[in-house]
Amino acid sequence: MKVGLRTLLERSVKKMGKGMNPIVKAAALEMVERAYNEGIYVQISAGYRSLEEQASLYGQGRVYIYNGKNYSNLAKPNVTNAKPGQSYHNYGLAIDFFIVSDDGKKAIWTVNSKWQRVAAIGKELGFIWGGDWSSFKDYPHLEMTGGLSYKQLQAGKNPHITSPKTSKGDNHIISIQKTLNVRYETNIECDGFYGPKTRMALIIGLQTELNKQFNKKLVVDGKWGPKTKNATVTIKKGASCNITWILQAALYMKGFNPGTLDGEFGENTEMALYKYQKASRISADKLAGKVTWNELFA
Ligand SMILES: [Zn+2]
Repeated sequence: MKVGLRTLLERSVKKMGKGMNPIVKAAALEMVERAYNEGIYVQISAGYRSLEEQASLYGQGRVYIYNGKNYSNLAKPNVTNAKPGQSYHNYGLAIDFFIVSDDGKKAIWTVNSKWQRVAAIGKELGFIWGGDWSSFKDYPHLEMTGGLSYKQLQAGKNPHITSPKTSKGDNHIISIQKTLNVRYETNIECDGFYGPKTRMALIIGLQTELNKQFNKKLVVDGKWGPKTKNATVTIKKGASCNITWILQAALYMKGFNPGTLDGEFGENTEMALYKYQKASRISADKLAGKVTWNELFA
């Protein structure tokens, strides 16, 4: 039997503990719910952590004394570089998540497309994702800093936390969804959220255009695989076609706004592409080629 949303929310509340910032807590639960509505079952595994709890975590894999108490635990592996007070968990501003099996009984720690999607929802809600960090990737971790460093938080400053917690979707995404339905005869809900169905519709659009404009013989199934990847063409500044529109829409979905979605590969599209490539740590060559297409849809 499928795990219920209520169960996931209740477990998450328990794991977050007392001491959470209320907005961060609400955003975390909203994330669980949005993911659930997309068929992704996710649970929060940690939230607020006291300084003593942080000390025992930091003590794993090293010799560590904190406030005169011995927290050394060499039997366990090193799990964090954050000392007490140096983690946003200590201020109730961070959460960790994991995916659960459909029946809710097993934890799944594989960082796959579902995992990435949950992180994306978290980011839509105003979280910073540890999977985006360059030095030490912390895939389960999401935090809101309110613009404050932990030093400022330690000094007692109050973070100003806001979360774009909207139940109505993004207007630009709604218009992209409408265009997809008209142009490619897809039948997706125009709700203003970028979910798996909208992603599929974009791939259908790309496959259709590759067949039409570049005589490729792709099966138009909305699935991203090696055949579609290898059939992609490189487009760059000056291009003007429906494929450019697909690129613009895909960049927009990833949070890189190319300005007007007009199918014209101009200055703004190039800048959005460049920023996306840099953020994704792929070659920032301003060319939308195989690597970029794959990054956008894989
Ligand atoms: Zn964490």
